[in-house]
Amino acid sequence: MYNKTAPIEVNGRTYAWPEKPLVVICVDGSQPAYIEEAIKAGVMPFTAKMLANGADLRADCVIPSFTNPNNLSIVTGRPPAVHGICGNFILDPDTGEEVMMNDPKYLRADTIMKAFHNAGASVAVVTAKDKLRTLLGHGLDFTSGRAISFSSEKSDQVSLKQNGIEDVLSMVGLPLPSVYSADLSEFLFAAGVKLLESRRPDLMYLSTTDYVQHKYAPGSDGANSFYAMMDGYWAKLSELGATLAITADHGMNAKHLDDSQPNVIYLQDILDDWLDEDVTRVILPITDPYVVHHGALGGYATVYLPESVDCDDLCTKIATMDGIEVALTNAQACERFELPPELVGDLVIVSTSNTALGTSPDRHDLSGLNEPLRSHGGISEQTVPLLFSAPVSAGHDQGRLRNFDIFNIALNHLQI
Ligand SMILES: [Zn+2]
Repeated sequence: MYNKTAPIEVNGRTYAWPEKPLVVICVDGSQPAYIEEAIKAGVMPFTAKMLANGADLRADCVIPSFTNPNNLSIVTGRPPAVHGICGNFILDPDTGEEVMMNDPKYLRADTIMKAFHNAGASVAVVTAKDKLRTLLGHGLDFTSGRAISFSSEKSDQVSLKQNGIEDVLSMVGLPLPSVYSADLSEFLFAAGVKLLESRRPDLMYLSTTDYVQHKYAPGSDGANSFYAMMDGYWAKLSELGATLAITADHGMNAKHLDDSQPNVIYLQDILDDWLDEDVTRVILPITDPYVVHHGALGGYATVYLPESVDCDDLCTKIATMDGIEVALTNAQACERFELPPELVGDLVIVSTSNTALGTSPDRHDLSGLNEPLRSHGGISEQTVPLLFSAPVSAGHDQGRLRNFDIFNIALNHLQI
C-alpha cells in the first residue's frame, strides 16, 4: 500500500526514508558550551564517543532565538517566513490582540513528520511542555496507529484519540514531573527509549525544556548533571539501533549585572518618554505562560508605531543606545531573519549578549527569578550544536548550516 522508498517532498525540500529509526533531539537552550564543558568534565562519555565517530557541527538557529519559531523551523525544515510561527507571543494583525502563538491556525506549513506519516511511516513526537505539542503534532492522524504525540507535562492526560497512545505513565515508569523541573526533560527521554523499544517509530522528535539552561551556566554542577542524564538516554537510544541527530532551538546567555540584578532595557518606558504614552506598542515575543525562569525578559522585541512616527528616525535612534545590537525596520528584519512581515511590528530590536529587553518594570513579574537572569532571543544566542551519530557524507555542502537543516542532513547526507 505504501512505497517506503520514494523520497518525501515537503515544503520544497526532499527527504529520503531512514534506513534505521531516526531520533531527532532538540535540547532547548543548549548553547554549544554546555555539551563542550560536559564532555570536558567527563560526564558525557557516550556523546564524546559519538562525536568522535560522527559529526560535531555548529549551526545558526532562527531569529528570534525563541523556542516556538525554532522548533517549528526544525520540524518543517524551513524558516518562519515559510511556516509562519515567528514568536511565542504576537500581536494578531486580524484582531489587534496580544495572543499566544500556540494555535495551529498560525502554522502554514506541514511538518516533516506529517509528510512521512501520510506516506506510511510511523512517527512519534514527545515534548516537555504541552505548549509545543499541538503545533509539533499538528496534522498527524492519531487513529492510524502510526502516530504518537504527547508532552511530559500532560502525560497523565493522554488518550488514543488525542495522542495516539494510552497510559504513558505506566509505560515510562516515572511519576508525572513538575513543569518547572529537570525531570520534565528526563521523562521525555525515558519515554523515547520505551517507544523505540516497543514501537520502533521510523521518525521520532524529542524536544526538551530549557529550565536547567535558564538557571545554570555551562560547566556548572547543575548543568553537568542534566547533560550527564541526557548522555545516558542517548546511549540507550543508540544501543537500540537509532541514528541520533541533536541540535538546539537557541543558545542561552547571562543577562545580569555584577550585583546579580537583571540587566534590562525597558523599551516601552523609553519610547513613552521620547514620544508620549500610548503612542508605541512594544511586544516581547518571548512571553508565554511559563515565565517563572525568565520573567518574559529576552533579547528580542518588536515595536508597533502609528503612521505619525518616522520609522527610520526612531530606528536609528534606538540603534545607537548602549546594549542594543541591532534595530531594524520590518522590511530589513524580515529579509535578514526570514520572517513573515505581516506578523512582525514596524521595528525589530535585538539586544546585546548580556542585555535583556523589557517593556516596563511593573509588567515583569520577577518574583520567581531565583537565580541571576539567563535568557535568549537575540543574535548572540544564534549558534547551536548540530550533532550526528554518523559522519556527514563527503561532498555535502556545509556552507551556512541552520538548525532546520537537521532532517535534511540526517536523512540525506549521513554515512550510515
Ligand atoms: Zn527554547
